[in-house]
Amino acid sequence: MRRYTKIISTLGPASASRDAIAALIEAGTDVVRLNFSHGLHDQHRRSVRIVREEAAKQGRQVTILQDLQGPRIRIGEVENGAVTLKNGRGVVLSANRGIKSTAKHITISYDALHDDVTLGGTVLIDDGQLELVIERIEGRRIHARVVAGGVLRSRKGVNLPRVRTTGPALTTKDLQDLAVGIELGVNLVALSFVRTEMDVVHLRKQLRKAGHRASIIAKIEKPEAVDCIDQILAVSDGIMVARGDLGIEMSISRVPTVQKEIIHKCLVAGKPVITATQMLDSMVGSRVPTRAEASDVANAVLDGTDCVMLSGETAIGRHPAEVVRAMSEIIRVTERHWHMMPSAKRGLPDALSKTGDITESVSFAACDLAAHVGAVAIACLTASGTTACAIARHRPRIPLYAFTDNLGVVGQLGVLWGTKCFAIPFQNDTDAGVQVVHRELTKRGLVREGDIVVITAGMPLPRKAQTNMVHVSRVD
Ligand code: PGA
Ligand code: MN
Repeated sequence: MRRYTKIISTLGPASASRDAIAALIEAGTDVVRLNFSHGLHDQHRRSVRIVREEAAKQGRQVTILQDLQGPRIRIGEVENGAVTLKNGRGVVLSANRGIKSTAKHITISYDALHDDVTLGGTVLIDDGQLELVIERIEGRRIHARVVAGGVLRSRKGVNLPRVRTTGPALTTKDLQDLAVGIELGVNLVALSFVRTEMDVVHLRKQLRKAGHRASIIAKIEKPEAVDCIDQILAVSDGIMVARGDLGIEMSISRVPTVQKEIIHKCLVAGKPVITATQMLDSMVGSRVPTRAEASDVANAVLDGTDCVMLSGETAIGRHPAEVVRAMSEIIRVTERHWHMMPSAKRGLPDALSKTGDITESVSFAACDLAAHVGAVAIACLTASGTTACAIARHRPRIPLYAFTDNLGVVGQLGVLWGTKCFAIPFQNDTDAGVQVVHRELTKRGLVREGDIVVITAGMPLPRKAQTNMVHVSRVD
């Protein structure tokens, strides 16, 4: 049984060995996430090499996603690695990086902290495990009181709900990390803590400057990003619903509906969307997911997400490959219930077919036509990948095969729902193009003699015109 929704696995200490990576791929990982918040550059270089070698051995296409830390705020080094913060005690926060944090003085990796926070504001540390409230600001020193105490460890993340941070979108570390991503030819770059569309525009400029055409995924994990999601979506190639930080920065009760709203917007825009964090969290230690987790994965699929993502489950968990298998199984079973998909439920095709855009209209017609003639597959010849996105968003019930002459696009489409992408040299005329599609699909056992295939292309082919034709053919 084919699976349409894609799986992203985050690499980490639990999945660093060649065997572990090979097992992750074999279990069904479509996209590997390199989390640049952790790990050394050489470790990421090694991971990419192994992923490519093992994917090639298994005859699989695996996409590489680089995740940049972005303007994430962190605690500095803590004296002896850990100190205990007691409820009700006063602490000073400052950006002084030269000294180690103690129970009385905590240092933070953000210079403008004293400018951006306000009296009465909340400081959350370690995914909200620790909570401080700001009582007094004295120059660069912030006096706070411990509301929820606990153990404070080095380099833990800090969230400042409702604070509009003013730092740059890309830190010095991000720029160094991005250079490594470019060197490694990553297919997609995800940017954490996007605040407005300008953060994405800034990353796009950096990529252009380096002459690298990776797709950009904007991670939505701040309420202000939710507020300007339309503008962010307009300049991004895809979105990640980063539920981990989102559930700290805004009320966790809003996360499920924000997820649904963002996924719907991405479907309408024809851009891939990733649902991330804690999908099978209990499997970090356990061999079986909870019922709530199984429902969460299924619901994301039914919302219409392109990808579901694993973080700690594969990075530090005890059973990385088992988690991917469990996720894959939940997806497959859920996808049998096609009538519950958003495209079937909400009349999405109707809404989209009225835009008047030629590529969009032809893509919609291809899906409609494929259903009418009983086609076994839709194929598109696409230079940029745009047509593949335009077709996939209708969630056709048969496989979509994208053919492109651009290797970069092959990798980028790895996050696109239900799409397999192949690189081929483009032909000089449409008949030859159709023949090549038939041959490539037959060679891979994806179609058989007599099968009907619907193909879209832009005529004339050599000029890479925008998609303007649909062709129905029988494989012979
Ligand atoms: P992270 O992003 O895993 O890099 O923090 C995802 C999230 O916050 O959900
Ligand atoms: Mn995050």
